[in-house]
Amino acid sequence: MTAVPSPKPAEQLRQTLFKRRLKHFIGGEWQDSASGETFEVHTPTDNSLLTVAASGDARDIDRAAQAAWDAFPAWKALDGKARRKLLYKVAALIEERAEELALAESMDTGQAIRFMKSAAVRAAENFRFFADRAEAAQDGLSLPTAGFLNYTLRQPIGPVGIITPWNTPFMLSSWKIAPALASGCTVVHKPAEWSPVTATLLAEIMHEAGIPAGVINLVHGYGETAGKALTEHPHIKAIAFIGESSTGSLIQKQGADTLKRVHLELGGKNPVVVFADADLDRALDAAVFMLYSLNGQRCTSSSRLLVERSVHDDFVKKLAERVSNIKVGDPLDPATEVGPLIHPRQFEKVCSYFDIAKQDGATVAVGGERIGAVGNYVRPTLFTNARSDMRIAQEEIFGPVLTVIPFEDEADALRIANDVPYGLAGYLWTNDLTRAHRFAQGLDVGMIWVNSENVRHLPSPFGGMKASGIGRDGGDYSFDFYMETKNIAVNLDGHRAAKLGVEQPRSEKGN
Ligand code: NAD
Repeated sequence: MTAVPSPKPAEQLRQTLFKRRLKHFIGGEWQDSASGETFEVHTPTDNSLLTVAASGDARDIDRAAQAAWDAFPAWKALDGKARRKLLYKVAALIEERAEELALAESMDTGQAIRFMKSAAVRAAENFRFFADRAEAAQDGLSLPTAGFLNYTLRQPIGPVGIITPWNTPFMLSSWKIAPALASGCTVVHKPAEWSPVTATLLAEIMHEAGIPAGVINLVHGYGETAGKALTEHPHIKAIAFIGESSTGSLIQKQGADTLKRVHLELGGKNPVVVFADADLDRALDAAVFMLYSLNGQRCTSSSRLLVERSVHDDFVKKLAERVSNIKVGDPLDPATEVGPLIHPRQFEKVCSYFDIAKQDGATVAVGGERIGAVGNYVRPTLFTNARSDMRIAQEEIFGPVLTVIPFEDEADALRIANDVPYGLAGYLWTNDLTRAHRFAQGLDVGMIWVNSENVRHLPSPFGGMKASGIGRDGGDYSFDFYMETKNIAVNLDGHRAAKLGVEQPRSEKGN
């Protein structure tokens, strides 16, 4: 770890955040909680106080839901072109403030600055992508049938709740908010309590871009209070949620009484499967990147590495060298590859697996220890000689921790790959074309990359199977979630419906 003198913009931002305090943004105004309650926000580099945020409860959610409800008719009625223009403005302002956003995200979450700059740019891209489709989002199908002009159209479902997690929170919030607004929905956003900073900056940016009052609302607070109240509010028609699988299950239960439409993007324990015939150098680069970038806190991270036995030892030797060389340090240092983990609780959770791995009989080949006494730093870790039934191979650790499992043949690899409760993403490395297709079709996951790391394509469906979620995002899939499909059938031939309740002809009276 190298000590880095804080660059000036970071110092300034820290002072601004400290003075500013984070409020709710409801009906176009910055507001304190009805209760006056707040919670502290800390930076994971040393767990010192970064700022203080308003802590919302059901009363604040109610105000925000009412504001979203009141703003809905006008936002829905706004021409798609006008919505596009406003969302373009949001994207431009995000780009203008990309450096500040990246700094704020790094300070708040511990994510390395080298990745956060591109995350802010990607958020702008999300806004532009969905803005470009705002006008056509309402388009439906023409389904002509005998005597009828029969067509479908889509209309926004209403005010929606968006609940986001603490890993790359700015980019993930944009991924939900952009399509919701492009659809014509109004939004109440409840960001994670461990990372409320950039959500506040996003609300500020949207306000500055001219998004009308009440169209975007932000309520800070804990999941069990603010989050729960949002999922239960009758004005909120749908909940788009990103977070843990166990929370996803709670969201469904809480939303049941008001019949919420829910979209759940949940946890993962994603396999990367490396066959002996693959380009092993590229596979190594991708496996290291997909696990250790973003502090290993990426839902699509390749946290289980399955390697064919014949190349296993050599591959793992090279892997161990690479993992030992990963640079851990201050997230604001551009050279840092892995920063501190967001919160002492997440830090303790990740560290607990170091003992669990040993108890279960795996080898801690690299890392397996904390770094220093200050902040939430862990050594990038590699577990080898693991079996699929071990906890390190089954549970989402969500840190810079990779578990390697050898396999014998294709059938064995597929069995191990599918042997987890999750089914979000999978990565497959082979130069055997038929095997690639066969294996991909057998993998129980929502997204598969063959001979590649995760390269996002925004129109493609994003989402998981099994405990990894319900529903898909991306392109038109997002619009399907935020909109209702309506069918309209217009009679063209003037045919008469059968008459009931009129006097029947004599013959039918039985005369
Ligand atoms: P979490 O489930 O603890 O919290 C997520 C959000 O839900 C937070 O805003 C939290 O306040 C809120 N929440 C908690 N309890 C709630 C309740 N009862 N009602 C309503 N809201 C509630 O998740 P986290 O720890 O913040 O995030 C990490 C998890 O997110 C990991 O499991 C990761 O895999 C997952 N994730 C999934 C995807 C995906 O696309 N599948 C993407 C990113 C992260």
